[in-house]
Amino acid sequence: MNMDQNEIFPSFLVDMGSIVETISSKSYHRIMVQAPEGMKMYMTLLADIIEEATNAEVIIDGEPCYGACDHSGERAKMLGMDALIHIGHTDIPSMKREGSIPVHFFPAQMKTDMEAIKKGLDEILERTEARRVSLLTTAQHIARLIEIEAYLLEKEVTVHLGGPGKREMYPGQVLGCSFSAAKDLPDEVEVLIYIGTGNFHPLGLALSTGKEVHMLDPMTGSVSQVEMQEVDRLLRRRFAHIEKAKDALEKGSDVGLIIGSKPGQERSSLAESMMEELGKKGHKARKIVMDHIEPMKIRALGYEVAVNTACPRIAFDDSSRYDLEGVTLITPAELRIALDILPWDQYSFDEEW
Ligand code: SF4
Repeated sequence: MNMDQNEIFPSFLVDMGSIVETISSKSYHRIMVQAPEGMKMYMTLLADIIEEATNAEVIIDGEPCYGACDHSGERAKMLGMDALIHIGHTDIPSMKREGSIPVHFFPAQMKTDMEAIKKGLDEILERTEARRVSLLTTAQHIARLIEIEAYLLEKEVTVHLGGPGKREMYPGQVLGCSFSAAKDLPDEVEVLIYIGTGNFHPLGLALSTGKEVHMLDPMTGSVSQVEMQEVDRLLRRRFAHIEKAKDALEKGSDVGLIIGSKPGQERSSLAESMMEELGKKGHKARKIVMDHIEPMKIRALGYEVAVNTACPRIAFDDSSRYDLEGVTLITPAELRIALDILPWDQYSFDEEW
């Protein structure tokens, strides 16, 4: 058997030895494997390797997968599997486990260049002259934080790693639905350094802390800073949606309260409290359960305004698709602003888990 993980995933490191050891030591005979879209093309090879090494039958989950919150332990149970091997995300400790067979999470560490990261860190330190920083990143780069922290300590920079909260496994880890690692930062932390790509997490960090956030791309070492104008632009877009929801409520529109059925996204009690708050203000709402949330599904049910209690990123990432379909999708916190329960200046990302 070829156990060279570099040959399975060109861009990621996955601990294949631990996967095989887990299946063998627990005497699993039938397992399902699940991974996010970027790793799907390697799943057949992975299944072949696991079968050869363990003699267990392997079925691939071909459905899309967006996070650990979206594991298919229940689907695997329905098919009579012994366990689910979920690759690419870290476990969410507070996630509900009922109805699922055992799920084993194996994160995928993105292959990055430590020399490029060091160059980026030097540039940030030179630009900011900061001596006390907080490091934050996502699951794909979390294993790098030890080396990054050691490098900064060598430069006599104090490093703060916050968290983890209820949804993360490691200090310094952030999710699109939880910025716990940036909560309660000591006052002396001067800047936040986010290791990763994309704007969503850095914007969330800037909004929730009000501190300077620097982004370091761990593939290239390039650095940039979150500009407050970007945060303002995001807030303006969200406020436009809140205003639209408010207008529709004033005109008597019913509200769809979306409950996600994915195991780590289900927030029925939050939907219930939204229902009560809407009722108290004289608005009618209906709870709607969905697995994969799509604008046309909401529109087909006749709702112009919907509050999403499932993955908080949907309202941000897919807002233009909802606009095109004539659906205003807002978060629970945004509904409270629309109902005048919360003032505008207390806007925050949705992290109510
Ligand atoms: S941001 Fe969304 S997809 Fe990612 S872990 Fe949170 S709920 Fe799941």
